Parts: sequence; structure tokens; C-alpha cells
Amino acid sequence: MSGQINAFEMAQKQFDTVAKQLQLDAGVSEVLRWPMREYAFRIPVRMDDGSLKVFQGFRVQHNDARGPNKGGIRFHPAETIDTVRALATWMTWKCAVADIPLGGGKGGVVVDPAALSVREKEELCRGWVRAMWKNIGPRNDVPAPDVGTTPQMMGWMMDEYSRLVGEYTPGVFTGKPVGGGGSLGRTEATGFGVVYSIREAMKRINMDPKKAVASIQGFGNVAQYASIGFIEILGGTVACVSCYDRHDKKAYTYSKKGGIDPHFLKSIADQYGTIDKAKAQDAGYQVGDADAWLSAEADVLIPAALEGQINGDSIQKISKGVKLMAEAANGPTTPEADEVIKKNKIFDIPDFLCNSGGVTCSYFEQVQNDMNFYWHKDEVLEKLDQKMTSAFHSVVDMAEERKVYTRDAAYMVAIDRVVKAMELRGWLSAGA
Ligand code: NAD
Repeated sequence: MSGQINAFEMAQKQFDTVAKQLQLDAGVSEVLRWPMREYAFRIPVRMDDGSLKVFQGFRVQHNDARGPNKGGIRFHPAETIDTVRALATWMTWKCAVADIPLGGGKGGVVVDPAALSVREKEELCRGWVRAMWKNIGPRNDVPAPDVGTTPQMMGWMMDEYSRLVGEYTPGVFTGKPVGGGGSLGRTEATGFGVVYSIREAMKRINMDPKKAVASIQGFGNVAQYASIGFIEILGGTVACVSCYDRHDKKAYTYSKKGGIDPHFLKSIADQYGTIDKAKAQDAGYQVGDADAWLSAEADVLIPAALEGQINGDSIQKISKGVKLMAEAANGPTTPEADEVIKKNKIFDIPDFLCNSGGVTCSYFEQVQNDMNFYWHKDEVLEKLDQKMTSAFHSVVDMAEERKVYTRDAAYMVAIDRVVKAMELRGWLSAGA
């Protein structure tokens, strides 16, 4: 999924660096650098042409000391157990840093969802649940959408689970459609959360948001709302966005003099985040190569596509003016690129802090499901802003106090909280 980089090795390496700084007990480190449980299973689906196709599915539960495992399900042709392990591990740190009472999980299916009909997608979603239903649940493990999966798919999955357990159980999946147990604000939550954390970072480094120019990789759910929020919440400009084109099998960067209009681009993008190139060109957009977003004149870079995109090579291409890196995607920066970011004193908002708005809103969705009482959108976004702001400052305070890189500080805050929960539950005591 990420070329040369093994995402799980990267997740373990990041953890090891901080475990060493924290002088964490070797046994405790061993517990935390591996997932607690892993499931791999095969999902048979009767295809529209009458053939039976078998898909590989995964679910990894990294750590549930602080509460039920939480994390998305990806449908991606290059999904691997290691990608899922890495993402599950990052979810543990993400929920802990956001200070929500949940653990870390992630799931996946090796499939290109764009190649399936609606019926085949529904069958695959229901098949995933039939394979996993005994090991998930509102008090156990709560999946959500991620790359290649949608609210509608969560609706089908929640329905399948409810049928199997014999009662309506909306809290088993989050990211469901509004009206089908979903929360208002969930669609915007990750992208807007990225923007709230950028706003707080700008206060810390004295940047004027109204003069700020961002360049964004990706144009899926996160990137779309990060661009809208950057312009409408902060008053800044978005120079360009990039996205993968499934038809041409390569990525392009879309830019426009004076900044892009995310609402227009959203209107010509499909549900997988591919912009219609011809329509963009007709509207005066310039179409550059995949890496053009990196070298664009910008002071804020927002990688919001896939992991491993900011690596030893690509970091050399970024414009000299970049002051802030907001990691909207999961694991976009490799350890090699991290060294360059540190050396150039670019303020980095680490992924599991920056994109924690999605899971925070998922938590709000579960709370609303439990109460069977739903908040209006402003209330959800206001609560989200409070959580993101407080999480951001707890990390930056830690970075200043211990004079460490923001990623290491985020790990310190998160690891501290998870270890404390394990201790309080007696998992680390002699008699456990
Ligand atoms: P998505 O599937 O909606 O969009 C992904 C986008 O990335 C698409 O526009 C795709 O064309 C683009 N892309 C893929 N490869 C690319 C490449 N090589 N160059 C340029 N663009 C490329 O996914 P999403 O939900 O927006 O998630 C994006 C990232 O954010 C992922 O890392 C995901 O794990 C993470 N994330 C998502 C959420 C959420 O709530 N959706 C929450 C937390 C983290």
C-alpha cells in the first residue's frame, strides 16, 4: 500500500523511540508494540456474473485498556495485515491522545470497491460482519468507515449485526448515515478537526491564518473538508489539491490562480475522491503531476491521502516556505522525512492528534446511540472543537515541557494514559 515502507515497522519504530525516552519497562513495551488480537478471514461473495469470488478480510484489535477497540475498515486492493496492524496501533494512541474512553482497532478487505456493483458491495459488507460479529460489539470493538468504505456500508453492516444478535444495535458501527443512527457533523469531523488543530498551531507559532496558503494531498472525505475549513473557518487560501485518478492509474495535482474552490471540485469528484479532469480543465484548473502539490508555494502542507507519502525523497521537494505540516492522513510521514522536518524546524501536527476529529465524533455518535437522543450539528462541532483544542495543547505543552518533537510528545501523552489504564485494571500487577 505504501511502496517501500512497511507501515507497521514504522509504527513500531515510532513507539520504540518514545518508549526509550520514557524508560518504559521492557515487558510493558512488548505488550504495546504488538496488537492484542488479530483476525484474518475469507469472505465469499456471489458476484453479479454468477461466479463466487473470495475476498481476504482482516480485523486487528491493538489495545482495549481504555475502552472498546475503535477504528475503521478499509476496502483497498493493496491492503495487508501489516497496514491494518499499524493503523490499529495508531488508533490506540489516537483515542488516548484525544482523551476519549476507547482503544485501538482497524479492519480491512483486499478489494477495489470501485470495481464492485452496489449489490456486490453490500454482500461483501454483510459477509465481513458474518465473519466477525462474535468479536465486535458496542462494548467490545466498534468499527467505522475509512478509505474505500462509506456511511451506507456502515448502515448495511450495522443492520447485519443487529439481525445476527436479534436486536437493533446502532452503537456497533459508527459513521452511519444520518437518519440511520449516524451523527450530524461526522462527515465534516476529520477535516474540520484538522483545521481546528491548524488554527491552534498557528496561535503557537504566530502565523496569520488569513494570509496562510495550504497545499493538500488527496481529495477524499478528509481533504475535502480540510480545504473547506481552511478557507471558511480560517480565512486562508488553498493553492492546490491532488488526487489519484483511477481511470489513468496515476495521481494529479489541481491548482488555480488565487486558490481552488473546494465546493466546485467536490461537485465534480466521485465518491472515491477522483476529480473529473476534463471538467476541472474546462473550469480553468491547471493539472500538474502527482508531486506538484509538494513543491507548490505554500506555508502549510496537509497530506490527506495515504501513508508513507512524505518520505526521504519527497520531503526534498517541498517549498522552502513551509512552516507547518498538518498530518491529516494516517502515517503520512516516514522516520527519514521526520528528521528533515525537525532539522528545518517545521511545526508538525502528528497524524494521530491532527486527524482525531473523526474518531472523536464517532465517540459522540456512540454516546448519542446509547442515549437514543441526537444533538444538532453546531453542538457536535462545538464539542469537537473543545476536544481537539484541549488535545492539541496537552501535546504541545508536553513538547515544550520535555523539549521533544511534537510526534514524540503526542506518543508520550498517549502511552502514559494507556499504561495508566492497564495499571488501574491490574494488567501489569504481579497477580494479573
Ligand atoms: P478517501 O478514500 O475518501 O480519499 C482518499 C483520497 O486520497 C482520494 O482523493 C484519493 O484519490 C487520494 N489519493 C490516493 N492515493 C493518492 C496519491 N498517491 N496521490 C494523491 N492522492 C491520492 O479517504 P479519506 O477518508 O479522506 O482518508 C484519507 C486519509 O485520512 C487516510 O490516511 C485515512 O486513514 C485518514 N483518516 C480518515 C478519517 C476519516 O474520517 N475519513 C479519519 C482519520 C484518518
